[in-house]
Amino acid sequence: MISVKLLEEDNKSIRILLSGVPLAVANAIRRMAINEVPTMAIEEVLIIENSSSMPNDVLVHRISLIPFISDIDRYVPPEECGCGKRLGCERCAARFVLRAEAKDEPITVYSGDIVPEEETTVKPVSPRIPIVKLSPGQKIELELYVRVGRGRQHAKWQAAIATLYEPEAGGGDERILYIESIGFLPPRRILVEAAKALEKKAAELEALFQEALQQGSTK
Ligand SMILES: [Zn+2]
Repeated sequence: MISVKLLEEDNKSIRILLSGVPLAVANAIRRMAINEVPTMAIEEVLIIENSSSMPNDVLVHRISLIPFISDIDRYVPPEECGCGKRLGCERCAARFVLRAEAKDEPITVYSGDIVPEEETTVKPVSPRIPIVKLSPGQKIELELYVRVGRGRQHAKWQAAIATLYEPEAGGGDERILYIESIGFLPPRRILVEAAKALEKKAAELEALFQEALQQGSTK
């Protein structure tokens, strides 16, 4: 028999006791939490203007690593949308702009300066992430497309850090799963999405088995 127990939870992390769960399954859940839980980050950047001293590619790289508080109930991954548009539609992309200009004094542009183009709950996890410094007269203007992705595609979408360990006074088949959110999603949502991702993999496998068996029986 398997059972789970919530040991500890706050807005950053969650600790769950797993009893009787095979190690391979527990480990699969841990890996799903890291690699397969959908989150939102900047996928496309259109540079309208960049007169800062930071080259375009460096600026794009820096800004792409900002994690966004994600709404995975409203937005779908590009491959599940079907609009086929490179910059997406309102179902598969949240659009933002970043405009900043240094007048008389040098300024630092922060993640909090990123402004949504439409009403959305998606926003940078922190407004205090520095992006670029501008000297007087320098200006940037960017269009940003925030989209759903997964850690396995690029580390910028990695939902969590997750570890599995044996409790000190464990009964042999007990393990503790610890998940620490990067900030895209609440830790409890990551836990549930990790289980869903595992379920989805199993369903894909079942369909492939059926297909292979069908092909095998017709030969
Ligand atoms: Zn779309």
